[in-house]
Amino acid sequence: MNLTMDKLVNHCKTVGFVYRGSDIYDGLANTWDYGPVGVELKNNIKKAWWKRFVQESDNTFGVDAAILMNSRVWEASGHTTGFSDPKMDCKECKMRERADNLVEEYCKKHKITGLTPDAMSNEELEKFIEEHKVPCPKCGKSNWTPIRNFNLMFETSRGVTDESQNKIYLRPETAQGEFVNFLNVQRTSRAKVPFGIAQIGKAFRNEITPGNFIFRTIEFEQMEHQLFCKQEDAQKFYEEYKQKAMQFLLDLGFPRENLRYKDHDKLAHYAKAACDIQYLFPVGWEELNGIHHRSNYDLSRHQEFSGKNMTYLDPQTGEKYIPNDIEYSIGCDRLLLATLCNAYDEETLDGGDTRVVMHFHPFLAPYKVAVLPLQKDLNDKAREIYRNLQKHFMCTIDEAGSIGKRYRRQDQIGTPYCLTVDFDTLQDNTVTLRDRDSMEQVRLPLDQVVSYIVEKIQF
Ligand code: ATP
Repeated sequence: MNLTMDKLVNHCKTVGFVYRGSDIYDGLANTWDYGPVGVELKNNIKKAWWKRFVQESDNTFGVDAAILMNSRVWEASGHTTGFSDPKMDCKECKMRERADNLVEEYCKKHKITGLTPDAMSNEELEKFIEEHKVPCPKCGKSNWTPIRNFNLMFETSRGVTDESQNKIYLRPETAQGEFVNFLNVQRTSRAKVPFGIAQIGKAFRNEITPGNFIFRTIEFEQMEHQLFCKQEDAQKFYEEYKQKAMQFLLDLGFPRENLRYKDHDKLAHYAKAACDIQYLFPVGWEELNGIHHRSNYDLSRHQEFSGKNMTYLDPQTGEKYIPNDIEYSIGCDRLLLATLCNAYDEETLDGGDTRVVMHFHPFLAPYKVAVLPLQKDLNDKAREIYRNLQKHFMCTIDEAGSIGKRYRRQDQIGTPYCLTVDFDTLQDNTVTLRDRDSMEQVRLPLDQVVSYIVEKIQF
C-alpha cells in the first residue's frame, strides 16, 4: 500500500490522533497536539519503552529532571557554543535552509555519491553550493548568503524585575538531566557500575528546517537511557544497546527490512562510536534513534564545570574512575510517527468494501476493546459490561450506527477487540469478541473476557 504523509496527516486529524497545534488560530507552524486516541497511543509507547528499558533492565533508575537548568550545564555540555546548524538565506526569496541539507538533497537528485554533507566544513559546503549553483528549493534561484552558524536552543529569561533577568534555555535534549543527577542517583540508589539512568521528557529545538508532520518539530519528547560503565566494557555495551534498541522495535511489530543501522559519518572528538537506527518512512530512510559511545566526556565536563567529583569508587576492587557512557536516545513523537506509518493499512474486504485499519501492537492500541450493543434494548447491559472492563484497561463504547460502520470506526483507530452484546448475552452471559486483524469472532463467557484480553495485549 502506498502511504503518503498527506494521507496519514489527514487520517490522524479525522480520527483524533494528531491535530494541528493552536488549530483555531490557524496553527503555529511545526507544533502539533495529540487528540484523544493520540495521547493514549503516546502514553502506551512511553509505557512500552519504560517497561523494556527500566522495569526489565537490571540496575536502571528513572529520573524526571527539570526542563529549565542552570546555564552552566549548557556551557559544560558544549551546547552554548556548539549546538548549531549551518544556515544560509536565499537572497531572492528569504527562504532559510540548512547548507548540509541543500547539498544532501542536491546529491540525491543528481545521483552524486561519496559525499557526506554532515561531515563537511562550512567552507566545503559553501564551495560545493557555489560550484554546483545549488538552487533554492522555493524559488529555484541560486543566490545564497554566506553560511552562519545558527544556535538551536530556545532562550527565555528568569527574574521578577527587568534588571534581574537571567538568560536561561529550554533544554534541547534530556540527556543533561541524567548526567547532572549521576551522583544523586548513584548515592541514593546505592547503584554499582554498570548502571543506567533513564528519562522521558520534553526537549525544544529551534530547528531551521522542521517538517514532515511530527518527524521534526520544535518541541518534542525524548526517551533516553544512559548506561554508565567501565571503559573496557563500553564497546561491549555499545554493541548490546544496538541490539536492544533494534529488538525493541522488532517486538513492537516493525519488519526488519524497514529498519537499518547507519553508522555516523562524523564522530564528535570525544565519541568512540555512534550509529542510528533508521526506518523507511514514506519520505525515505530517516533516523529513528541514536546509540552513542560517549567515553567519559559528559561526566568529566560536568566535573570540570561544577567542581564536583564524578569519580566512582569500585567497592570490590577499590579502583577509582569516571565512568564511560553509552547513550541510547529515541524521539517519542518520531517513534509514534513510525508506528502510525507501520500500522496504517487499507484493505479490500469480501464483497468489495474497503476498510482503513491500524494494525497496532495491541499493547500500543489506544483502546483495547470497544463495547457494541446490537440493539438499543441492550444498551444497559452493554454499559454494565463497559464499566467493569474500564477497571482493567482503556475501553470505549459505541451505541450508534450499523454494526459494520461501528467495526470500521474501531478499525481505523486500531482497537484490537470489538465486544458485541446481543440477546443471548442477557440469557447466558456470553459475548462475541471480534479480532481486528483476522476479523474472526469467538464466543466467550463474560467472566473470561478480561483474562482473554489481558493475555493478548502483553508486551
Ligand atoms: P537529527 O539528525 O534528525 O537532527 P539528532 O541526531 O540531532 O537528529 P539526537 O540529538 O541524537 O538527534 O536526538 C535523539 C533523538 O531525538 C533522535 O533520534 C530523534 O528520534 C529525536 N529528535 C531529535 N530532534 C528532533 C526533532 N526536532 N523533532 C522530533 N524528534 C527529534
